[in-house]
Amino acid sequence: MKIYGPVPSWRLGNSLGADIVEAPKSYCKICSFDCVYCQLGDTGLKTNKPEQYPVSEKELQILKNRIKATKPDYITFSGQGEPTFNLNLGYVAKRIKKMTKIPVAVLTNASFIKNDSVRQGLNQCDFVIAKIDAPSQELFEAINQPSPGIMLKDIIKSITKLKTKVAIQTLLFTYKNLTNADDKTIKQLIKIYKQINDVKPTTVFLGTAYRPTDLRGIISIKEQRLKEIAHKINYETGIEVIYYKKSEPLLIRRKPRPDELEREIITLLERRPCTEEEISTRFGKVNISLLLDELIKGNIIEKRRQNNRIYYFAKSRG
Ligand code: SF4
Repeated sequence: MKIYGPVPSWRLGNSLGADIVEAPKSYCKICSFDCVYCQLGDTGLKTNKPEQYPVSEKELQILKNRIKATKPDYITFSGQGEPTFNLNLGYVAKRIKKMTKIPVAVLTNASFIKNDSVRQGLNQCDFVIAKIDAPSQELFEAINQPSPGIMLKDIIKSITKLKTKVAIQTLLFTYKNLTNADDKTIKQLIKIYKQINDVKPTTVFLGTAYRPTDLRGIISIKEQRLKEIAHKINYETGIEVIYYKKSEPLLIRRKPRPDELEREIITLLERRPCTEEEISTRFGKVNISLLLDELIKGNIIEKRRQNNRIYYFAKSRG
């Protein structure tokens, strides 16, 4: 298990990442999907086989220390690997809940949610944020590029069986002729949100592809359009909708040692592209310009402009 952040999350505030499925060397991720907008890169290991990935006492102690040092709003299972690949998810969630009262969230693509033991694991978390980007199998396959045999209808049905708090997360974007932000698709998505909410009350998170991706040409959806869509969903279903808004990252008052600083920045950028401000506010607003330049010169990270911001990400992500 690798700990990273806390990252500034528009959904969860300061969210301390717990990555319980690390990607094998030379892969940027391990996932059952290969979403066209994925911020982790396109050199992933695609699989659809959940396994027991062990989490050591030493790793749990590191997590405990980081919680104490950073006081996050959430501890979130996320990172280079789809968290539900690890059948120990529920066990680790229980262990975390014994060490702190801070809520435990999980960001999942929900591809294995049909599996009883995966659902039991998810139920140990306080908050499950499950991905639904498309209202039809055809669009699901075009956007999320799932491993063979993963059916959208099973995901929708199984989400309603969860016993814990649930949000549906939809990432809206346009890429050439592919989009899920047009009126027709939104209308169909609303039907699905309603279908889930009628059985299992939920929240909808509307995000967009604002961070850099390996696939050039992904266009994010403007805040005004996200707002309109959010209002439409809320008006037609009564469901609470939270949409992505550009905001200042919250400050974390913490000063790691110089050797820890470099390692932590790389671990963070392997899992999430960040702006300089997003990184420096993780460490009490320390000046990291020189360190970022050195890491670029050392070919460890690179930077790219996206949506008028400069994002840094690790070369090792793929
Ligand atoms: S589910 Fe997440 S990690 Fe997997 S490909 Fe999609 S965006 Fe990337």
